[in-house]
Amino acid sequence: METEIYNKLGVSPRVLQYGEEILKELAPRFKEIDATAEYNQAKVVYGMQKNRVSSACFVPTTGYGHNDVGRDTLEEVYATVFKTEAALVRPQITCGTHALYLALAANLLPGDELLSPVGRPYDTLEEVIGVRPSPCSLMESGVTYREVELLPDGSFDYENIAKALTEKTKLVTIQRSKGYRMRPSYSVEEIGKLIAFIKERKPGVICMVDNCYGEFVERREPSEVGADMIVGSLIKNPGGGLAPAGGYIAGRKDLIERCAYRLTSPGLGLEVGANFGVETQFYQGFFLAPTVVAASVKAAIFAAAAYEKLGFNVLPSSSETRHDIIQSIELKSEKAMVAFCKGIQSAAPVDSFVTPIPYPMAGYDDDVIMAAGAFVQGSSIELSADGPVREPYAIYFQGGLTFAHAKLGVLLSLQKMLEEGLIQL
Ligand SMILES: *Cc1c(COP(=O)(O)O)cnc(C)c1O
Repeated sequence: METEIYNKLGVSPRVLQYGEEILKELAPRFKEIDATAEYNQAKVVYGMQKNRVSSACFVPTTGYGHNDVGRDTLEEVYATVFKTEAALVRPQITCGTHALYLALAANLLPGDELLSPVGRPYDTLEEVIGVRPSPCSLMESGVTYREVELLPDGSFDYENIAKALTEKTKLVTIQRSKGYRMRPSYSVEEIGKLIAFIKERKPGVICMVDNCYGEFVERREPSEVGADMIVGSLIKNPGGGLAPAGGYIAGRKDLIERCAYRLTSPGLGLEVGANFGVETQFYQGFFLAPTVVAASVKAAIFAAAAYEKLGFNVLPSSSETRHDIIQSIELKSEKAMVAFCKGIQSAAPVDSFVTPIPYPMAGYDDDVIMAAGAFVQGSSIELSADGPVREPYAIYFQGGLTFAHAKLGVLLSLQKMLEEGLIQL
């Protein structure tokens, strides 16, 4: 029965069998991931019960959005689950970069200094900060910026971090996930140690964590180990695949209020912002997020194990503990990147008939290839793969709303690689 339907989808019996062999060995890992999902699911249900979520929360609002019970209650749910004093969770926050910009711009004033102790942050933040000059960047308004490179093994350079903390340092930004860099993603525990080190030297400094791709991968969030603000996108983990757009910032009340002033206007802050009828999807997506994230983590481990066994370099390895949902695989050639992406694309529920090809993209020196057949445009909690076409030809693979679907994606990537003579099974 399985063979027949997989055959219809383009997976040969040999590839299917290879997948099953790999999966057998992963059973104990998957059990651990399910246990984390169970714990996080309980946290979310508790957050919803404690804040008395009811059908009144799903009522669409328009105009100013005054007294928007759904919006206000959801912010309390996020605050409960992430163990913070407050949260800002809005469809008006257009993406992760926007949420990060808000958090930074609201809390840094002319003359203040921003420090990144984990090397260069995510690509899109270069213009936000102004290291790539841009109108309305932080640097344009008189904020200065410093970064401390990671040590060659990807760990924190504590000695130079201590030196980089000056009397001007107002805010420290820590990126949890590796983004498009070949460096480790950090555990909540490691982030906690870094924050403790920084606050010991400079108690008043604001520590912010770019939490993109990290939510619900572990049992704790960085806000539980000293982060004053955590920031992310709703078309990644916490939206659970259902949120059609949006971003969040959770943290200390005074800082979140400034973010709200910056998003809407001084004096108005959290009080305005209609929900346009998206609250049901925000709530339901947050409710599903722990299991959707578990599916994505399993998919990443399955891909790692399947390609590791074929001799490819994978980061992280299939046996490492996970701190985000990203898997990178060094595929060694452009041809292999294209074949891999074709496989992922052909597994999609949407746009499965499209053929991905490398393409020049703004902000990148090299052509970029992407595979995504998503219900929500650009949603990377849905199964997707992308990467710049250059040495070492690394593809970044992430997402999967269900493990069964992500499994099909990995199998079809193997199938295309096999058909092109790039692997042998
Ligand atoms: C996705 C991401 C962002 C923000 O990206 P958007 O595409 O603007 O949502 C920032 N930092 C990291 C680490 C990310 O993964």
